[in-house]
Amino acid sequence: MNIILLGPPGAGKGTQAQRLVERHGMRQLSTGDMLRAAVKAGTPVGLQAKAVMERGELVSDAIVSALIGEELDTMGPAAGAIFDGYPRTAAQAEALDGILAARGRKLGHVIELDVDEDALVARITGRFTCATCGKGYHDSFEQPRAPGVCDKCGGTEFKRRPDDNEETVRTRLAEYRAKTAPILPIYEARGIVTRVNGMAEMDHVTAAIERILAKELIP
Ligand code: ADP
Ligand code: ADP
Ligand code: ZN
Repeated sequence: MNIILLGPPGAGKGTQAQRLVERHGMRQLSTGDMLRAAVKAGTPVGLQAKAVMERGELVSDAIVSALIGEELDTMGPAAGAIFDGYPRTAAQAEALDGILAARGRKLGHVIELDVDEDALVARITGRFTCATCGKGYHDSFEQPRAPGVCDKCGGTEFKRRPDDNEETVRTRLAEYRAKTAPILPIYEARGIVTRVNGMAEMDHVTAAIERILAKELIP
């Protein structure tokens, strides 16, 4: 099964993808994570992407689609893919169709996380992750159970993204509205979009997604 989690920055895509990975053995394909790894490693892609990401603008379609194709090629055919933060433009949506078809994969569901924009700045400016395992947290909404210790791996170092500041978030939201939201009709026409209330508690959002995927999920 292959699914897309669609929603603006801070909607909860990464949070929900991590849960599906842990509970159902799916694989998260986050172009944001791939790009940040490339920036850190100083690869040519990273060098090209760094300033664009710091401004909150979109990296080129060719770069992100190539990253997605490469990542899919490291997966066994049975593993389900969760696309998190991709596609973000009509060109990427079209590229994804070709990428999936070439690998005999089919898109099962597009899950739209519906959120109030007013809540997103608070979500993003309070976001941090474990520096060791990448588990996501929030200053107000999801703190580690023991202060300063990662629930998942016991790590004690955490990090914040340089682009998770109010000014950049405004640009990222504008990019979402202008370039990403318009791809929804492509998938609506295929009858594969389900809208989930992303303002609900994290557990409720997870339960709603699991209901949508119930027929295909490995328990
Ligand atoms: P995205 O991947 O869509 O940008 P994240 O999953 O990283 O979003 O979530 C952004 C921040 O909001 C994180 O700090 C996360 O802990 C928090 N968050 C995610 N879902 C919810 C929710 N349903 N309610 C409150 N906070 C949430
Ligand atoms: P969020 O889910 O919080 O918006 P991501 O981690 O998905 O953040 O993306 C961070 C940044 O990486 C984006 O602001 C953009 O610059 C770049 N990026 C990630 N995915 C894509 C994509 N599919 N197309 C273009 N740029 C991307
Ligand atoms: Zn951890």
